[in-house]
Amino acid sequence: MNLHEYQGKNLLKSFGVAIQEGKVAETVEEAVSAFYALQDETKTEFAVVKAQIHAGGRGKGGGVKLAKNVGEVKEYAGNILGMMLKTPQTPGGLNGPGKLVRKVLIAEDVYAPDFDACKEYYVSVLMDREKKCNVIIYSTEGGMDIEQVAEETPHLVHKEYVDPTLGLQGFQMRKIAFNLGLSGKAFKEMTKFISSLYKAFVESDASLFEINPCLNTGDDRILAVDCKVTLDNNALFRHPDLAALRDTNEEDPTEVEAKSYGLNFVNLDGNVGCMVNGAGLAMATMDIIKLCGGEPANFLDVGGTADAERVEQAFRIILRDPNVKAILINIFGGIVRCDRVAQGVVDAYQNMGNINVPIIVRLQGTNADIAKKIIDESGLEVHSAILLQEAADLVTKVLED
Ligand code: GDP
Ligand code: MN
Repeated sequence: MNLHEYQGKNLLKSFGVAIQEGKVAETVEEAVSAFYALQDETKTEFAVVKAQIHAGGRGKGGGVKLAKNVGEVKEYAGNILGMMLKTPQTPGGLNGPGKLVRKVLIAEDVYAPDFDACKEYYVSVLMDREKKCNVIIYSTEGGMDIEQVAEETPHLVHKEYVDPTLGLQGFQMRKIAFNLGLSGKAFKEMTKFISSLYKAFVESDASLFEINPCLNTGDDRILAVDCKVTLDNNALFRHPDLAALRDTNEEDPTEVEAKSYGLNFVNLDGNVGCMVNGAGLAMATMDIIKLCGGEPANFLDVGGTADAERVEQAFRIILRDPNVKAILINIFGGIVRCDRVAQGVVDAYQNMGNINVPIIVRLQGTNADIAKKIIDESGLEVHSAILLQEAADLVTKVLED
């Protein structure tokens, strides 16, 4: 689960990480009062109006503006709220439809008074699966695309691996501050920043923290100007306060609906819809589809209880995707009986009426033979297969037809 920048900053602040202070607003009036309140609480004269969407690169798309007076706060908040913001990271990129901005963060101008004395760094914390430990990635080249920095000047991107049993050690924080070229007060501030950032990462069960830019202000304070926070969904039950920060407006509406039915669904770009029980079988099915020359249109795990109602909900969700040219149903009847699933498929097909893509059903396991009979005798455009290879051949055939 991803957090908005303002939510991520609140999380960081609660662990003592220094941040660019700000207040969130949903209307122009709220933006104006946020601006005045911020001027009272901080010494800021200007404010940055920042679109709150789950995508980076907002600055490039016109979603981050420096306002020098209340008139400009009104103007920028008015323009940004309600806009469809396109960034390289919104769906379809700069040529896509963009994302609707519902909130703005009114943040203090931390680059004042001496913009030129400020220095932007990149700091992130994530898990390195190969090394089986967390890693802090950092660079003096902050504020820009880290991917580009890594490609063009890989020697400027540093990694510090953290042993999970020992935790982050003092010498590691100092090494990071040293490699960033810091000394004196900024050096100390950076070690504090890294230490509290790492603690926040571990204690909130995060899978990614990305601070870009991490700013060294003209007066040697180190703070997070931007943050991307991704939390581990599987640990959210331990953090009800963080789970409550979920913003379904930012998620794929089909995926949100599927989740409400208990379906494990991920939208993909291909042409073959798949309905499978069990994540492992779902992965194998996606591989098979690729081998047949197709591309999976989705990942869908209906779970253990593949009854008629579930099957119908899954059908509806798969068929909403106009790119779907065929559907492959691959269910192993272990706990669930294959004849029940087959009946569910037939019932759903008949209930829905307007299914005009070929369906290939492979039911294996308990009562597979009865299931095959139900499908074959239904008179519907549903092809049954017992072996995976048969199912694969049928997919190839219907894609060619
Ligand atoms: P992103 O474009 O989505 O990554 O949004 P960021 O929060 O990283 O902001 C983009 C850029 O806006 C930063 O790299 C800064 O150059 C600029 N910016 C952010 N906050 C301030 C600020 O307080 N003052 C000034 N002058 N510029 C800022
Ligand atoms: Mn950024």
